[in-house]
Amino acid sequence: MHFFDDRKDLASQGLTLQAVFDLSAMPDALKTWLQGAVKDASGYTQLILLGHGGTALWQAMEAAGARGNVWGNAGGDDPVDSFSRKVVTRYLEESPHCRGHRFLFPLEDYAAPLMALGAHAGWHHPSPFMVGINKAWGSWFAYRALVLTDSDFTATKPEVWGSPCVSCADKPCMGACPAGAVAHAGFRAESCFAHRLTPASSCAETCHARTACPVGAAHRYSEAQMRYHYGRSFESLKVYAQDQAKTG
Ligand code: SF4
Ligand code: SF4
Repeated sequence: MHFFDDRKDLASQGLTLQAVFDLSAMPDALKTWLQGAVKDASGYTQLILLGHGGTALWQAMEAAGARGNVWGNAGGDDPVDSFSRKVVTRYLEESPHCRGHRFLFPLEDYAAPLMALGAHAGWHHPSPFMVGINKAWGSWFAYRALVLTDSDFTATKPEVWGSPCVSCADKPCMGACPAGAVAHAGFRAESCFAHRLTPASSCAETCHARTACPVGAAHRYSEAQMRYHYGRSFESLKVYAQDQAKTG
């Protein structure tokens, strides 16, 4: 995490994970993705990756809604995307360090390699249940924005730390999965999907493996937040299963 003075505005709205990459210093694979996705990035100098950690963004969103400052429609139908875009847009438009910006995520058009960018920033290691794990936030964080900017923010350095899974002897995430999908041999996505799609599944709106992990447990999402995020992924999963059934 980087809490620079001039980015407290973002942190105060829950966007506590902040990385700034100079385009000229990005790894070749990420430069290639950017060239393919954006075609013409001339005029932009940096790429900013933002994520939320824990419950603060959700609380800020609820507070904004409660004030009647509803989440806006800047990011489409998803209120979390919309709120995040609104916060980031306001911040960049007001910052003296930024002369222009262009959102790459959240947007439908770009399949942004968020996990690769997060790994490049040193935000997470892989976990057995396929959600990245951060030393402070555990698995309770997520990507919220990726923005090309013409700016002179201080570039962040990759965070370097060891995976907590290496020293986690009991691996409670594995024992907590009712489908046996979280295993030493690797994640069994099909077992997880099948279990989630079972009528009245205990995993429709949560992941027991995730909640069993002790890392960053103080930052676990609230029940409403869990219902929201897992409810959306459940709907996507149902669509995926229907498409699979149609194509045989
Ligand atoms: S419970 Fe242990 S092995 Fe599982 S994700 Fe958490 S730290 Fe890693
Ligand atoms: S959602 Fe349920 S089935 Fe899937 S990994 Fe988590 S605990 Fe296991």
